[in-house]
Amino acid sequence: MGRAFVYVILGGGVAAGYAALEFTNRRVSHGELCIISEETVAPYERPALSKGYLLPEAPARLPAFHTCVGANEERLTPKWYKEHGIELVLGTRVISADVRRRTLLTAAGETISYKILIVATGARALKLEEFGVNGSDAENVCYLRDLNDANRLVDVMHSCSGGNAVVIGGGYIGMECAASLVINKINVTMVFPEAQCMPRLFTPKIASFYEDYYKSKGVEFVKGTVLSSFDVDSNGKVVAVNLRDGKRLPVDMVVVGIGIRPNTSLFEGQLTLEKGGIKVNGKMQSSNSSVYAVGDVAAFPVKLFSETRRLEHVDSARKCARHVVAAIMEPEKTGDFDYVPFFYSRIFALSWQFYGDNVGEVVHFGDFSGNTFGAYWVNKGHLVGSFLEGGSKEEYAAIAMVTSLKPAIEDLAELESRGLSYAMAV
Ligand code: FAD
Ligand code: NDP
Repeated sequence: MGRAFVYVILGGGVAAGYAALEFTNRRVSHGELCIISEETVAPYERPALSKGYLLPEAPARLPAFHTCVGANEERLTPKWYKEHGIELVLGTRVISADVRRRTLLTAAGETISYKILIVATGARALKLEEFGVNGSDAENVCYLRDLNDANRLVDVMHSCSGGNAVVIGGGYIGMECAASLVINKINVTMVFPEAQCMPRLFTPKIASFYEDYYKSKGVEFVKGTVLSSFDVDSNGKVVAVNLRDGKRLPVDMVVVGIGIRPNTSLFEGQLTLEKGGIKVNGKMQSSNSSVYAVGDVAAFPVKLFSETRRLEHVDSARKCARHVVAAIMEPEKTGDFDYVPFFYSRIFALSWQFYGDNVGEVVHFGDFSGNTFGAYWVNKGHLVGSFLEGGSKEEYAAIAMVTSLKPAIEDLAELESRGLSYAMAV
């Protein structure tokens, strides 16, 4: 039993949705394109799950946030896929891939063959068990990667209003979920091993601003230690979190955000991997010419830094998805993907954006006790990264532009004194 398509997208997340839109913009024929996804819903804007989806009032729900509303584009509902002749194979896990034969085998036993495959399998949340702690399956321990996780988190949150939550991890999930829990009137303690939140991106000065803001909202921080075990009651519910430094925190719920691993396992031994992802060239093409990869699972050349990177952010997933379709359908007109890394977050009333790379010397600017401040990173004499909290549309556009130009910086003190006006003048 089997079906055959010209193009198959494996995975039905952000990148799949944006690729589908681009395929129709480029007039793919009805019946040529198939998307296979383990999820039971059409592609949606995953960032909504840690923001609008968790709000206590008027929370975001599907179909409102199907792709591609996040980029102010058409909202692709299941009806849209049908009308455009795109086969959406939902609730279906692919269990093996044979890139030599160009086939995928689903858990239902169907073989789906392709001429061209786009791997968009994203990533999975790391489990506590991978760090030697048991208890992830307790009913009040939550992760957040997909809609099922989000529904579970909402249910658990509603069941313990006014109660205590421990958030494990000080990265993106930890910070965004902690804010949502507070908005839902839950007392939050954040626990992470480093000396500051968001250690991979924030400088200590930037982190300190956000930590102070969170403290003003009642969040407590326990830093420099990790979870060692859970105390579980006779109903299988976690009632306390034990930390390696000896502290015991009573809890009604736990949220875990300790990083991800790209879903590459189907292709290990078949495609070249790098930086934990599938290595692709500037056309997003892997070591097998019929297989492309996009989104969290792809390690691609970032021209600006002459380096292969794997990014775990939505803007990159959207843009490389559009690029891969252009590269496949109009190869002669499509150059190499030229992308300036862009990350952002919105928490409480705050909102920041970052462009580029956070290496080299840091120059902070603006008013860290006010609403608008930021930082530039200068590496080997060039501005390579820019961060801004509380900027306007024009100001964010300016830091994006200045970062893409990588200007030479001779005088760090002058850059510091000019601050945001430096970017605005470029
Ligand atoms: P995904 O969107 O994860 O999609 C992968 C898809 O592949 C899923 O549907 C999965 O079920 C499917 N799949 C995997 N394996 C198989 C298989 N074997 N068979 C069938 N289907 C399979 N980034 C930002 O820049 N800003 C944000 O504010 C932001 N917020 C986020 C909030 C949350 C809660 C999460 C989890 C992520 C957030 N991100 C954010 C990151 C961003 O969502 C990801 O970078 C983006 O979703 C990556 O897109 P993708 O298509 O590569 O993977
Ligand atoms: P992150 O990689 O952002 O952060 C994980 C954090 O957990 C790191 O600080 C990590 O420390 C720490 N950690 C690792 N192990 C432990 C442990 N045993 N106990 C406590 N802390 C630990 O991953 P997240 O899980 O926060 O996010 C998952 C994915 O979702 C990422 O791809 C992220 O980009 C994406 N996302 C993006 C958002 C955005 O862009 N706004 C919003 C939400 C999610 P260390 O660095 O030392 O390993």
